[in-house]
Amino acid sequence: MIVFDLHCANAHRFEGWFASAAAFETQLERGLIACPVCGATEVHRLPSAPYVQTGHGVPDAPPAPTPVGALVGNTLAVQPHEMVARVLSQLRSLARGAEDVGERLPEEARRIHYGETEARDIRGSASRDDVEALLEEGILVLPVPPAEEDMH
Ligand SMILES: [Zn+2]
Repeated sequence: MIVFDLHCANAHRFEGWFASAAAFETQLERGLIACPVCGATEVHRLPSAPYVQTGHGVPDAPPAPTPVGALVGNTLAVQPHEMVARVLSQLRSLARGAEDVGERLPEEARRIHYGETEARDIRGSASRDDVEALLEEGILVLPVPPAEEDMH
């Protein structure tokens, strides 16, 4: 088989498969080759070289370039919202291991900060004003949003 790149009078491009170049010429003369788009029988070969199928299958195609989208997708395997979820999850596990001092949190945090009591991780509740005051004193306070399962 031999394949030709063809185009019709309306500039539609298509492929035609023929037993031989002579068969193509014969079919063309008889008006047997019609454009699959518009049906025009005024068909011409494009000047590009035809390739001949030898029966060993399709010639090896060059390796397809790696799609850029796939690379980007792999690089961003961790979505931003997943990062946030991981950090929150770590904060929650830290908080679970800390001593719950409840509403005495600001007081205990100050005592630890000023060396009045044993240094340890504590958790508890504090008002927004308390947290701001602690931060101003240089005491690190991390607000930990409740886990979703805690809110149900
Ligand atoms: Zn056409």
